[in-house]
Amino acid sequence: MKILMCSSEVVPFAKTGGLADVVGALPLALEKLGHEVRITMPKYKIVNNQKLKVTAIAKDVDAGKIGNNIAVYFIKNDKYFGRDGLYGDKNGDYPDNLQRFSFYSRRSLELLKEINYSPDVLHLHDWQSALAAIYLKNIYRKDNFYNKIRILLTIHNLAYQGLFLKEEYPKLGLDDELFSVDGLEFYNKINILKGGIIASELINTVSETYAMEIQGKEFGCGLEGVLSGRKNDLSGIINGLDYDAWDPKKDKLIYKNFSPETWKDKYQNKAQLQKDCGLSVNDAPLFGMVSRLADQKGMDLISSSMEDLIKIGHIQMVFLGTGDVKYHNLLEQMAKRYPHNISVNLKFDDSLAHKIYAASDIFLMPSRYEPCGLGQMIALKYGALPLVFKTGGLADTISKENGFVFEKYSVPAFIDSAKEALSAYGDKVKWEKLVKKAFTYDFSWEESAKKYVELYKNLTSKG
Ligand code: ADP
Repeated sequence: MKILMCSSEVVPFAKTGGLADVVGALPLALEKLGHEVRITMPKYKIVNNQKLKVTAIAKDVDAGKIGNNIAVYFIKNDKYFGRDGLYGDKNGDYPDNLQRFSFYSRRSLELLKEINYSPDVLHLHDWQSALAAIYLKNIYRKDNFYNKIRILLTIHNLAYQGLFLKEEYPKLGLDDELFSVDGLEFYNKINILKGGIIASELINTVSETYAMEIQGKEFGCGLEGVLSGRKNDLSGIINGLDYDAWDPKKDKLIYKNFSPETWKDKYQNKAQLQKDCGLSVNDAPLFGMVSRLADQKGMDLISSSMEDLIKIGHIQMVFLGTGDVKYHNLLEQMAKRYPHNISVNLKFDDSLAHKIYAASDIFLMPSRYEPCGLGQMIALKYGALPLVFKTGGLADTISKENGFVFEKYSVPAFIDSAKEALSAYGDKVKWEKLVKKAFTYDFSWEESAKKYVELYKNLTSKG
Protein backbone atom coordinates (compact mmCIF):
# COMPACT_ATOMS: atom_id res chain seq x y z
CA MET A 1 0.00 0.00 0.00
CA LYS A 2 1.24 3.51 -0.84
CA ILE A 3 0.28 6.22 1.62
CA LEU A 4 0.90 9.95 1.56
CA MET A 5 0.45 11.62 4.94
CA CYS A 6 0.02 15.36 5.21
CA SER A 7 0.46 16.96 8.59
CA SER A 8 1.24 20.42 9.89
CA GLU A 9 3.57 18.95 12.51
CA VAL A 10 5.77 15.87 12.63
CA VAL A 11 8.26 14.65 15.25
CA PRO A 12 11.25 15.18 15.18
CA PHE A 13 10.89 18.30 13.02
CA ALA A 14 8.14 20.42 14.59
CA LYS A 15 5.80 19.74 17.48
CA THR A 16 3.18 21.52 19.52
CA GLY A 17 1.22 18.45 20.68
CA GLY A 18 0.24 14.83 20.24
CA LEU A 19 -0.45 15.20 16.51
CA ALA A 20 3.29 15.52 15.87
CA ASP A 21 4.00 12.37 17.90
CA VAL A 22 1.47 10.39 15.89
CA VAL A 23 2.70 11.46 12.47
CA GLY A 24 6.29 10.91 13.59
CA ALA A 25 5.58 7.34 14.72
CA LEU A 26 2.73 5.82 12.70
CA PRO A 27 4.68 5.93 9.40
CA LEU A 28 7.54 4.03 11.04
CA ALA A 29 5.16 1.29 12.21
CA LEU A 30 3.53 1.13 8.77
CA GLU A 31 6.92 0.85 7.14
CA LYS A 32 7.75 -2.09 9.41
CA LEU A 33 4.54 -3.75 8.22
CA GLY A 34 5.79 -3.42 4.63
CA HIS A 35 3.95 -0.31 3.44
CA GLU A 36 5.37 2.68 1.62
CA VAL A 37 4.73 5.96 3.38
CA ARG A 38 5.70 9.47 2.40
CA ILE A 39 4.98 12.66 4.32
CA THR A 40 4.57 16.33 3.52
CA MET A 41 4.83 19.16 6.03
CA PRO A 42 5.57 22.90 5.94
CA LYS A 43 9.18 23.95 6.29
CA TYR A 44 8.85 26.26 9.27
CA LYS A 45 11.74 28.35 10.56
CA ILE A 46 12.25 25.80 13.36
CA VAL A 47 12.75 23.08 10.71
CA ASN A 48 15.14 25.28 8.76
CA ASN A 49 17.19 25.85 11.91
CA GLN A 50 17.77 22.12 12.32
CA LYS A 51 20.27 21.91 9.44
CA LEU A 52 18.81 18.62 8.25
CA LYS A 53 20.24 16.46 5.52
CA VAL A 54 17.89 17.33 2.67
CA THR A 55 17.89 17.33 -1.11
CA ALA A 56 16.04 19.96 -3.06
CA ILE A 57 13.57 18.21 -5.34
CA ALA A 58 11.87 21.38 -6.53
CA LYS A 59 12.55 25.08 -6.18
CA ASP A 60 10.28 25.16 -3.14
CA VAL A 61 10.43 21.56 -1.86
CA ASP A 62 13.18 19.82 0.10
CA ALA A 63 13.18 16.09 0.77
CA GLY A 64 14.52 14.43 3.91
CA LYS A 65 14.11 10.99 5.38
CA ILE A 66 12.90 9.25 8.53
CA GLY A 67 12.81 5.53 9.37
CA ASN A 68 14.43 3.34 6.75
CA ASN A 69 13.12 5.00 3.69
CA ILE A 70 10.23 7.33 4.45
CA ALA A 71 10.51 10.47 2.37
CA VAL A 72 9.53 13.68 4.13
CA TYR A 73 8.79 16.54 1.76
CA PHE A 74 9.21 19.97 3.30
CA ILE A 75 7.11 22.58 1.55
CA LYS A 76 8.97 25.88 1.55
CA ASN A 77 7.54 29.37 1.50
CA ASP A 78 9.39 32.00 3.47
CA LYS A 79 6.48 34.41 3.49
CA TYR A 80 4.20 31.84 5.11
CA PHE A 81 6.48 29.59 7.12
CA GLY A 82 9.58 31.65 7.90
CA ARG A 83 8.25 32.54 11.35
CA ASP A 84 8.98 31.45 14.90
CA GLY A 85 5.58 29.85 15.59
CA LEU A 86 3.71 27.09 13.80
CA TYR A 87 0.26 28.61 14.10
CA GLY A 88 0.63 31.89 15.90
CA ASP A 89 2.50 34.09 18.34
CA LYS A 90 1.74 35.86 21.59
CA ASN A 91 -0.99 37.86 19.86
CA GLY A 92 -2.89 34.69 18.94
CA ASP A 93 -3.29 32.83 15.66
CA TYR A 94 -1.51 34.24 12.62
CA PRO A 95 -4.06 36.25 10.65
CA ASP A 96 -3.13 34.55 7.37
CA ASN A 97 -3.47 30.92 8.55
CA LEU A 98 -6.08 30.27 5.87
CA GLN A 99 -3.64 31.18 3.10
CA ARG A 100 -0.73 29.43 4.81
CA PHE A 101 -2.42 26.06 5.08
CA SER A 102 -4.31 26.36 1.83
CA PHE A 103 -0.97 26.94 0.12
CA TYR A 104 0.58 23.98 1.94
CA SER A 105 -2.31 21.64 1.09
CA ARG A 106 -2.40 22.50 -2.61
CA ARG A 107 1.36 22.39 -2.94
CA SER A 108 1.36 18.90 -1.39
CA LEU A 109 -1.09 17.67 -4.03
CA GLU A 110 0.70 19.33 -6.94
CA LEU A 111 3.97 17.83 -5.85
CA LEU A 112 2.56 14.33 -6.40
CA LYS A 113 2.25 14.85 -10.13
CA GLU A 114 5.61 16.58 -10.37
CA ILE A 115 7.35 13.58 -8.81
CA ASN A 116 4.97 11.14 -10.53
CA TYR A 117 3.91 9.56 -7.27
CA SER A 118 0.33 8.42 -6.99
CA PRO A 119 -0.48 7.05 -3.53
CA ASP A 120 -3.41 4.70 -2.88
CA VAL A 121 -4.34 6.71 0.17
CA LEU A 122 -4.08 10.35 1.09
CA HIS A 123 -4.04 10.33 4.89
CA LEU A 124 -4.76 13.79 6.26
CA HIS A 125 -4.51 15.05 9.81
CA ASP A 126 -6.61 17.84 11.37
CA TRP A 127 -7.86 21.00 9.70
CA GLN A 128 -4.49 22.28 8.54
CA SER A 129 -4.24 19.52 5.93
CA ALA A 130 -8.00 18.81 5.58
CA LEU A 131 -8.03 21.35 2.78
CA ALA A 132 -6.18 18.80 0.66
CA ALA A 133 -9.33 16.62 0.78
CA ILE A 134 -11.43 19.50 -0.48
CA TYR A 135 -8.98 20.35 -3.26
CA LEU A 136 -8.50 16.71 -4.27
CA LYS A 137 -12.20 15.98 -4.47
CA ASN A 138 -13.28 19.18 -6.17
CA ILE A 139 -10.35 20.14 -8.37
CA TYR A 140 -7.56 17.61 -8.77
CA ARG A 141 -9.65 14.47 -9.34
CA LYS A 142 -10.71 15.92 -12.67
CA ASP A 143 -7.19 14.93 -13.71
CA ASN A 144 -6.85 11.14 -14.17
CA PHE A 145 -3.55 11.17 -12.34
CA TYR A 146 -5.39 11.91 -9.07
CA ASN A 147 -8.55 9.99 -9.77
CA LYS A 148 -7.81 6.84 -7.80
CA ILE A 149 -6.43 8.43 -4.64
CA ARG A 150 -8.76 7.80 -1.68
CA ILE A 151 -8.91 10.01 1.39
CA LEU A 152 -8.77 9.25 5.10
CA LEU A 153 -9.03 12.20 7.48
CA THR A 154 -7.90 11.72 11.07
CA ILE A 155 -9.32 14.14 13.60
CA HIS A 156 -6.92 14.54 16.51
CA ASN A 157 -8.91 17.23 18.29
CA LEU A 158 -12.32 18.36 17.13
CA ALA A 159 -12.04 21.62 19.03
CA TYR A 160 -9.68 22.99 16.37
CA GLN A 161 -11.68 23.31 13.16
CA GLY A 162 -10.05 26.09 11.19
CA LEU A 163 -12.78 28.73 11.38
CA PHE A 164 -12.46 31.85 9.24
CA LEU A 165 -14.60 34.80 8.23
CA LYS A 166 -16.58 34.19 5.05
CA GLU A 167 -14.97 37.27 3.47
CA GLU A 168 -11.80 35.18 3.21
CA TYR A 169 -13.48 32.51 1.09
CA PRO A 170 -12.19 33.81 -2.28
CA LYS A 171 -8.64 33.20 -1.05
CA LEU A 172 -9.30 29.45 -1.17
CA GLY A 173 -9.78 29.37 -4.93
CA LEU A 174 -12.82 27.10 -4.63
CA ASP A 175 -16.20 27.33 -6.37
CA ASP A 176 -18.76 29.50 -4.62
CA GLU A 177 -21.23 26.57 -4.46
CA LEU A 178 -18.95 24.83 -1.97
CA PHE A 179 -19.65 27.55 0.55
CA SER A 180 -22.95 25.93 1.53
CA VAL A 181 -24.49 23.84 4.33
CA ASP A 182 -23.29 20.71 2.53
CA GLY A 183 -19.81 22.17 2.19
CA LEU A 184 -17.57 24.53 4.10
CA GLU A 185 -20.23 26.87 5.45
CA PHE A 186 -20.78 26.80 9.22
CA TYR A 187 -22.93 29.46 10.85
CA ASN A 188 -21.96 31.91 8.13
CA LYS A 189 -18.26 31.23 8.58
CA ILE A 190 -15.76 29.03 6.75
CA ASN A 191 -15.14 25.75 8.55
CA ILE A 192 -12.24 23.90 6.98
CA LEU A 193 -12.56 20.74 9.06
CA LYS A 194 -16.24 20.41 8.17
CA GLY A 195 -15.39 20.70 4.47
CA GLY A 196 -12.64 18.11 4.97
CA ILE A 197 -15.00 15.65 6.68
CA ILE A 198 -17.47 15.95 3.84
CA ALA A 199 -14.79 15.53 1.16
CA SER A 200 -13.12 12.49 2.76
CA GLU A 201 -14.24 8.91 2.08
CA LEU A 202 -13.39 7.76 5.60
CA ILE A 203 -12.87 9.65 8.83
CA ASN A 204 -11.33 8.43 12.04
CA THR A 205 -10.37 9.81 15.36
CA VAL A 206 -7.87 8.70 17.93
CA SER A 207 -9.92 6.53 20.28
CA GLU A 208 -13.12 4.55 20.05
CA THR A 209 -14.80 6.42 22.88
CA TYR A 210 -13.99 9.83 21.37
CA ALA A 211 -15.36 8.64 18.01
CA MET A 212 -18.67 7.99 19.78
CA GLU A 213 -18.56 11.12 21.93
CA ILE A 214 -18.11 13.53 19.01
CA GLN A 215 -21.37 12.38 17.48
CA GLY A 216 -23.22 13.92 20.43
CA LYS A 217 -23.87 17.50 21.42
CA GLU A 218 -21.59 17.62 24.46
CA PHE A 219 -18.36 16.83 22.59
CA GLY A 220 -19.40 17.44 18.97
CA CYS A 221 -18.26 21.09 18.93
CA GLY A 222 -21.13 21.92 16.59
CA LEU A 223 -20.16 19.22 14.08
CA GLU A 224 -22.13 16.41 15.78
CA GLY A 225 -24.74 16.46 13.01
CA VAL A 226 -22.17 16.19 10.23
CA LEU A 227 -20.32 13.44 12.10
CA SER A 228 -23.32 11.36 13.12
CA GLY A 229 -24.49 11.61 9.51
CA ARG A 230 -21.21 9.86 8.61
CA LYS A 231 -21.30 7.32 11.44
CA ASN A 232 -20.75 4.37 9.11
CA ASP A 233 -17.56 6.00 7.82
CA LEU A 234 -16.32 7.11 11.23
CA SER A 235 -14.21 4.95 13.54
CA GLY A 236 -11.69 5.24 16.35
CA ILE A 237 -8.13 3.94 16.58
CA ILE A 238 -6.16 4.56 19.73
CA ASN A 239 -2.73 6.12 19.23
CA GLY A 240 0.30 4.07 20.05
CA LEU A 241 3.26 5.24 22.05
CA ASP A 242 6.77 5.38 20.64
CA TYR A 243 8.59 3.17 23.14
CA ASP A 244 11.96 4.02 21.56
CA ALA A 245 11.46 7.55 22.80
CA TRP A 246 9.73 6.60 26.06
CA ASP A 247 11.43 3.80 27.97
CA PRO A 248 12.79 4.31 31.49
CA LYS A 249 15.24 1.46 30.92
CA LYS A 250 17.27 3.39 28.37
CA ASP A 251 15.98 6.97 28.67
CA LYS A 252 19.03 9.26 28.57
CA LEU A 253 17.09 12.23 29.89
CA ILE A 254 16.18 10.82 33.30
CA TYR A 255 18.48 10.81 36.33
CA LYS A 256 18.56 7.05 36.89
CA ASN A 257 17.31 4.33 34.55
CA PHE A 258 14.94 1.71 35.89
CA SER A 259 12.91 -1.28 34.75
CA PRO A 260 9.92 -3.11 36.26
CA GLU A 261 12.44 -5.22 38.22
CA THR A 262 14.38 -2.25 39.55
CA TRP A 263 11.42 0.09 39.77
CA LYS A 264 12.37 1.40 43.20
CA ASP A 265 15.20 3.28 41.46
CA LYS A 266 12.35 5.51 40.42
CA TYR A 267 12.71 7.06 43.87
CA GLN A 268 16.21 8.29 43.01
CA ASN A 269 14.60 10.16 40.14
CA LYS A 270 12.05 11.54 42.56
CA ALA A 271 14.64 12.73 45.06
CA GLN A 272 16.74 14.42 42.37
CA LEU A 273 13.74 16.14 40.80
CA GLN A 274 12.58 17.33 44.22
CA LYS A 275 16.05 18.81 44.75
CA ASP A 276 16.22 20.43 41.30
CA CYS A 277 12.74 21.89 41.67
CA GLY A 278 13.37 23.23 45.16
CA LEU A 279 10.85 20.89 46.82
CA SER A 280 11.43 19.19 50.14
CA VAL A 281 13.24 15.92 49.55
CA ASN A 282 11.03 13.34 51.24
CA ASP A 283 8.54 10.62 50.40
CA ALA A 284 5.49 12.85 50.10
CA PRO A 285 3.27 11.68 47.25
CA LEU A 286 4.40 13.51 44.12
CA PHE A 287 1.77 14.50 41.55
CA GLY A 288 3.20 15.34 38.13
CA MET A 289 1.57 17.12 35.24
CA VAL A 290 3.02 17.68 31.76
CA SER A 291 0.44 19.37 29.65
CA ARG A 292 -0.87 22.31 27.76
CA LEU A 293 -2.32 24.50 30.49
CA ALA A 294 -5.81 24.79 29.09
CA ASP A 295 -9.40 24.28 30.21
CA GLN A 296 -9.47 21.09 28.12
CA LYS A 297 -6.79 19.57 30.32
CA GLY A 298 -8.80 19.97 33.54
CA MET A 299 -6.89 23.00 34.77
CA ASP A 300 -10.12 24.43 36.19
CA LEU A 301 -10.48 21.40 38.49
CA ILE A 302 -6.85 21.48 39.48
CA SER A 303 -6.78 25.18 40.25
CA SER A 304 -9.92 24.94 42.37
CA SER A 305 -8.62 22.07 44.44
CA MET A 306 -4.83 22.19 44.73
CA GLU A 307 -4.81 24.12 47.98
CA ASP A 308 -7.23 21.64 49.56
CA LEU A 309 -5.12 18.73 48.35
CA ILE A 310 -1.96 20.15 49.87
CA LYS A 311 -3.76 20.55 53.19
CA ILE A 312 -5.37 17.10 53.09
CA GLY A 313 -2.44 15.05 51.90
CA HIS A 314 0.80 17.06 52.34
CA ILE A 315 1.33 16.34 48.69
CA GLN A 316 3.83 17.76 46.25
CA MET A 317 3.04 18.86 42.72
CA VAL A 318 5.30 19.50 39.72
CA PHE A 319 3.80 21.26 36.72
CA LEU A 320 5.35 21.58 33.28
CA GLY A 321 3.42 23.35 30.59
CA THR A 322 2.41 26.48 28.79
CA GLY A 323 -1.00 27.76 27.86
CA ASP A 324 -3.60 30.17 29.17
CA VAL A 325 -2.13 33.18 30.92
CA LYS A 326 -4.73 32.88 33.69
CA TYR A 327 -3.32 29.45 34.60
CA HIS A 328 0.27 30.70 34.36
CA ASN A 329 -0.57 33.39 36.90
CA LEU A 330 -2.53 31.13 39.16
CA LEU A 331 0.12 28.41 39.26
CA GLU A 332 2.88 30.93 39.87
CA GLN A 333 0.96 32.37 42.79
CA MET A 334 0.45 28.90 44.25
CA ALA A 335 4.15 28.06 43.83
CA LYS A 336 5.04 31.25 45.68
CA ARG A 337 2.65 30.38 48.50
CA TYR A 338 3.79 26.74 48.77
CA PRO A 339 7.42 26.74 47.55
CA HIS A 340 8.21 23.38 49.18
CA ASN A 341 5.14 21.67 47.78
CA ILE A 342 4.61 23.12 44.33
CA SER A 343 7.01 23.55 41.46
CA VAL A 344 5.81 25.36 38.35
CA ASN A 345 7.73 25.29 35.09
CA LEU A 346 6.06 27.39 32.43
CA LYS A 347 7.89 26.25 29.31
CA PHE A 348 8.11 23.49 26.76
CA ASP A 349 10.95 21.25 27.85
CA ASP A 350 11.21 17.67 26.64
CA SER A 351 14.05 16.82 28.98
CA LEU A 352 12.15 17.99 32.07
CA ALA A 353 9.04 16.18 30.84
CA HIS A 354 10.93 12.87 30.90
CA LYS A 355 12.23 13.60 34.40
CA ILE A 356 8.73 14.37 35.68
CA TYR A 357 7.26 11.14 34.29
CA ALA A 358 10.13 9.21 35.88
CA ALA A 359 9.79 10.92 39.26
CA SER A 360 6.01 11.16 39.69
CA ASP A 361 3.96 8.79 41.80
CA ILE A 362 0.68 10.02 40.37
CA PHE A 363 0.24 11.61 36.95
CA LEU A 364 -2.50 14.22 36.72
CA MET A 365 -4.58 14.18 33.57
CA PRO A 366 -8.14 15.14 34.52
CA SER A 367 -9.01 16.34 31.00
CA ARG A 368 -12.57 17.49 30.44
CA TYR A 369 -12.30 15.78 27.07
CA GLU A 370 -9.38 13.87 25.59
CA PRO A 371 -9.37 12.50 22.04
CA CYS A 372 -6.62 10.00 22.93
CA GLY A 373 -3.95 11.42 25.18
CA LEU A 374 -0.35 10.28 25.33
CA GLY A 375 0.56 11.44 28.80
CA GLN A 376 -1.35 8.66 30.56
CA MET A 377 0.38 5.99 28.45
CA ILE A 378 3.82 7.48 29.07
CA ALA A 379 3.05 7.69 32.79
CA LEU A 380 2.22 3.96 32.99
CA LYS A 381 5.49 3.08 31.29
CA TYR A 382 7.34 5.12 33.94
CA GLY A 383 5.43 3.60 36.87
CA ALA A 384 3.36 6.72 37.60
CA LEU A 385 -0.34 6.04 38.10
CA PRO A 386 -2.64 8.28 36.06
CA LEU A 387 -5.51 10.13 37.68
CA VAL A 388 -8.04 10.79 34.92
CA PHE A 389 -11.60 11.80 34.10
CA LYS A 390 -13.46 9.03 32.29
CA THR A 391 -13.56 10.45 28.78
CA GLY A 392 -12.27 9.70 25.27
CA GLY A 393 -8.94 7.92 25.09
CA LEU A 394 -8.53 8.14 28.86
CA ALA A 395 -11.64 5.96 29.26
CA ASP A 396 -10.18 3.50 26.72
CA THR A 397 -6.79 3.14 28.41
CA ILE A 398 -7.20 3.78 32.15
CA SER A 399 -9.40 1.95 34.62
CA LYS A 400 -9.31 1.19 38.33
CA GLU A 401 -6.80 -1.55 37.46
CA ASN A 402 -4.11 0.89 36.38
CA GLY A 403 -5.06 4.28 37.76
CA PHE A 404 -7.69 6.46 39.38
CA VAL A 405 -10.78 7.41 37.44
CA PHE A 406 -13.61 9.81 38.29
CA GLU A 407 -16.83 9.77 36.34
CA LYS A 408 -18.42 13.14 37.02
CA TYR A 409 -16.52 16.22 35.91
CA SER A 410 -16.62 18.14 39.18
CA VAL A 411 -14.27 19.38 41.88
CA PRO A 412 -15.64 17.01 44.59
CA ALA A 413 -15.32 13.97 42.30
CA PHE A 414 -11.78 15.00 41.40
CA ILE A 415 -10.83 15.46 45.06
CA ASP A 416 -12.34 12.09 45.97
CA SER A 417 -10.30 10.44 43.27
CA ALA A 418 -7.14 12.19 44.49
CA LYS A 419 -7.91 11.01 48.04
CA GLU A 420 -8.28 7.47 46.74
CA ALA A 421 -4.85 7.79 45.10
CA LEU A 422 -3.37 9.13 48.34
CA SER A 423 -4.79 6.29 50.38
CA ALA A 424 -3.43 3.73 47.88
CA TYR A 425 -0.05 5.45 48.01
CA GLY A 426 -0.12 5.18 51.79
CA ASP A 427 -0.45 1.40 51.60
CA LYS A 428 3.01 0.34 50.42
CA VAL A 429 1.99 -3.24 49.51
CA LYS A 430 -0.98 -2.08 47.45
CA TRP A 431 1.10 0.63 45.82
CA GLU A 432 3.84 -1.75 44.75
CA LYS A 433 1.21 -4.00 43.16
CA LEU A 434 -0.33 -1.08 41.29
CA VAL A 435 3.01 0.20 40.03
CA LYS A 436 4.08 -3.27 38.88
CA LYS A 437 0.78 -3.72 37.09
CA ALA A 438 1.23 -0.33 35.37
CA PHE A 439 4.41 -1.60 33.71
CA THR A 440 2.53 -4.47 32.06
CA TYR A 441 0.46 -2.28 29.70
CA ASP A 442 1.64 -2.14 26.13
CA PHE A 443 0.37 0.59 23.80
CA SER A 444 2.94 0.08 21.06
CA TRP A 445 2.17 1.35 17.58
CA GLU A 446 2.15 -2.04 15.90
CA GLU A 447 -1.44 -2.93 16.84
CA SER A 448 -2.77 0.50 15.96
CA ALA A 449 -0.84 0.55 12.69
CA LYS A 450 -2.49 -2.74 11.73
CA LYS A 451 -5.88 -1.15 12.34
CA TYR A 452 -4.91 1.75 10.07
CA VAL A 453 -3.95 -0.74 7.38
CA GLU A 454 -7.45 -2.23 7.68
CA LEU A 455 -8.93 1.23 7.19
CA TYR A 456 -6.70 1.87 4.16
CA LYS A 457 -7.85 -1.46 2.71
CA ASN A 458 -11.52 -0.57 3.24
CA LEU A 459 -10.85 2.72 1.58
CA THR A 460 -9.21 1.36 -1.54
CA SER A 461 -11.79 -1.39 -1.89
CA LYS A 462 -14.44 1.33 -2.05
CA GLY A 463 -13.17 1.98 -5.57
P1 ADP B 1 -2.26 17.23 23.35
O1 ADP B 1 -1.82 16.72 22.03
O2 ADP B 1 -3.74 17.46 23.47
O3 ADP B 1 -1.48 18.43 23.82
P2 ADP B 1 -1.34 14.64 24.39
O4 ADP B 1 -1.39 14.04 25.76
O5 ADP B 1 -1.95 13.84 23.29
O6 ADP B 1 -1.97 16.10 24.47
O7 ADP B 1 0.16 14.91 23.98
C1 ADP B 1 0.93 15.84 24.63
C2 ADP B 1 2.39 15.49 24.43
O8 ADP B 1 3.17 16.66 24.56
C3 ADP B 1 2.90 14.50 25.46
O9 ADP B 1 3.96 13.76 24.86
C4 ADP B 1 3.45 15.44 26.55
O10 ADP B 1 4.46 14.80 27.35
C5 ADP B 1 4.03 16.55 25.71
N1 ADP B 1 4.05 17.88 26.35
C6 ADP B 1 2.98 18.66 26.64
N2 ADP B 1 3.39 19.82 27.21
C7 ADP B 1 4.73 19.77 27.29
C8 ADP B 1 5.75 20.66 27.79
N3 ADP B 1 5.44 21.84 28.30
N4 ADP B 1 7.04 20.27 27.69
C9 ADP B 1 7.37 19.07 27.16
N5 ADP B 1 6.46 18.19 26.68
C10 ADP B 1 5.17 18.52 26.74
